[in-house]
Amino acid sequence: MDEVNGCAECQRLAKAYETETLAWFRLEGHLRIAEYGRDEESAQRIAFDLDEATQRRTELRNEIARHQRDSHNCGSHSSPRGMSA
Ligand SMILES: [Zn+2]
Repeated sequence: MDEVNGCAECQRLAKAYETETLAWFRLEGHLRIAEYGRDEESAQRIAFDLDEATQRRTELRNEIARHQRDSHNCGSHSSPRGMSA
């Protein structure tokens, strides 16, 4: 997918997605720590943030798919890899 590598919008979206993913993993780590420490208040707050991060990731994924479909004529198998979470 050379055309994708040269596309500024793809790079922007990929970067944003990567940032969200890192944030998501960080939050999940915090959530586990809070749960492990039976800190329910923190766990609830973090779970809420995690939920929002999940939504942002979903939106970005849709945006990436839409952009690739519209601008690159890629089919449905163009989602980023290694993002199974
Ligand atoms: Zn693109």
